[in-house]
Amino acid sequence: ISKRLKGKTILITGASSGIGRSTAFEFARTYSENLKLILTARRIDSLKQIAADIAEEVGGAVKVLSVQLDVSNADEVRAFVGKLPTEFKEVDVLVNNAGLVKGVAKAPEIAEEDMNIMFATNVTGLINMTQAILPTMLKRNNGDGAGDIINIGSIAGREPYVGGGIYCATKAAVRSFTESLRKELISKRIRIIGIDPGQVETEFSLVRFYGDKKKADAVYAGCEPLTPDDIAEVVVFAAGRRENVVIADTLVFPNHQA
Ligand code: NDP
Repeated sequence: ISKRLKGKTILITGASSGIGRSTAFEFARTYSENLKLILTARRIDSLKQIAADIAEEVGGAVKVLSVQLDVSNADEVRAFVGKLPTEFKEVDVLVNNAGLVKGVAKAPEIAEEDMNIMFATNVTGLINMTQAILPTMLKRNNGDGAGDIINIGSIAGREPYVGGGIYCATKAAVRSFTESLRKELISKRIRIIGIDPGQVETEFSLVRFYGDKKKADAVYAGCEPLTPDDIAEVVVFAAGRRENVVIADTLVFPNHQA
């Protein structure tokens, strides 16, 4: 295990469930010594429970700050970063994980509200967070920069499916933003890491089908999904590599996924 992240500060968006929650645990288990975790999402009660569970599992060596935050609200994001307590101010790793899907619908039936919330969260939210955190990373180490930004995209951004036009478009946008950001920062010591999961069993899986488990089961028949831990392990592995190694663009999907 690399010790690169010992004592560092990790900020995870969408940490209240699924991949974000697992990523928080994986960082805590792997780098427990003096690690600082900032967990954000809208469901503050879930974040507090996760913080308590982490403390129970790994002990007090990991400091956890839980903050209610809606990434789609740029003012809220800026205020949150501005008010971070001194000991959590220097974010070393930002995991842009918050994201959602609202329904499956072909183009004529796409609800405006669903479209707006998916873009606002998956794309604008990720950019809001990046813009708010990046200046601190750029200033670090006498201005030559330091830090990691890990963006969770999706296989849907590479392989669009019928009825998923908006969600797939948001994740293609994430991939595109990730790549241009990497190019913009190429001379800095800031790594831009894109991780695109395939099917993962989380709350997300059912939301996509408006809670219709029968429909979800039919679509996913014959495919054993990944667990959120499978993705969390890849996130933590990527962050733990020595500075000159960038796990730039990774697709992780179940062996049975077509
Ligand atoms: P979950 O629904 O379990 O987690 C999504 C997280 O995003 C929750 O913690 C939710 O917290 C948070 N979130 C949603 N909207 C906002 C918002 N406006 N502001 C802040 N947080 C928000 O699903 P997953 O763990 O599966 O999803 C995590 C990421 O992985 C997403 O970006 C998703 O698109 C991506 N992904 C998932 C796949 C899968 O098959 N599960 C496949 C490929 C990619 P809260 O509601 O408390 O705000």
